[in-house]
Amino acid sequence: MTSIGFVGLGNMGGPMAGNLANAGHEVKVFDLVSALMNAVSGTTPQATAADTAKGVDVFISMLPAGRHVDALYGGDDGIISQCDHGTLLIDCSTIDPVTAKKVAALASSRDLDMLDAPVSGGTVGAEAGTLTFMVGGAREALDSARAVLDVMGGKVLHAGASGAGQIAKICNNMLLAIQMAGTAEALALGVKNGLDAGVLSEIMKQSSGSNWTLNVYNPYPGVMDDVPASRGYAGGFLVDLMTKDLGLAMETAQYSRSSIPLGALANNLFRVHEQLHDAGRLDFSSIQWLYQPDLKG
Ligand code: NAD
Repeated sequence: MTSIGFVGLGNMGGPMAGNLANAGHEVKVFDLVSALMNAVSGTTPQATAADTAKGVDVFISMLPAGRHVDALYGGDDGIISQCDHGTLLIDCSTIDPVTAKKVAALASSRDLDMLDAPVSGGTVGAEAGTLTFMVGGAREALDSARAVLDVMGGKVLHAGASGAGQIAKICNNMLLAIQMAGTAEALALGVKNGLDAGVLSEIMKQSSGSNWTLNVYNPYPGVMDDVPASRGYAGGFLVDLMTKDLGLAMETAQYSRSSIPLGALANNLFRVHEQLHDAGRLDFSSIQWLYQPDLKG
């Protein structure tokens, strides 16, 4: 049994902390919204984030953005100053690599190991314990984290040094956004020229246009069961989160003087879609509406 502190019990963190408790670990939890602490059974709510970090083997955070992570770990009353020596720190939030590296360097200055370990797999993966972790930091630290990460995820992949997990996550989601927009565009072109969306999807799946969005997350309503497109784009991976990740890709490109023309276009397409269709709280496959507003009904 490992003693674990967990901060950030939202859509992702709540089920992740619950899975750790169900696996028999001792889990102390904290969230700014106190009702969320009582909702995770088998865990022990704490009065502050610092209390959550005291005397634990592993401390995990799952917060919205870089500024929250910076505020949680840094400063005199931050986790890095307050936790015991020997505590392994793991931030699973999706944030900018610059903040991830800065916080890991601060941890290192106190001889603490810290990993950035953002996830792929969404709320379904968080609940099922099948997330993919993309991890940045020392390999030895990852080796000691693996037993805990394995409880929450089906795959734990080492990307490189501190910040590398965040960079891998940003690259993956930028590619996903481009694929989703491209798939929606191809389906709209076919349908507007008389093809059935299901027939065209099947042909492209068996041809060189095949990709993850076609195979498991078709954006066209009614083509696949059990995907957001077939339930009015409810649930799934929100447009708001995709635009957040595309914003991180834009920042990362600026920082490294990289050119990402397709990523920038995808960022703009999702932004226009969000504003035109008030789509921030819809699944990102609703980008289909940008090509076929008539589907909105
Ligand atoms: P969320 O907004 O549902 O949860 C974040 C939680 O953090 C909230 O409950 C909030 O009260 C809490 N919080 C914020 N600051 C805090 C602080 N200082 N102390 C304690 N609690 C604090 O967000 P989410 O959907 O769970 O996403 C979390 C992270 O995971 C984000 O970085 C997101 O980009 C990433 N992510 C989300 C998904 C998804 O499908 N939701 C998928 C992959 C990655």
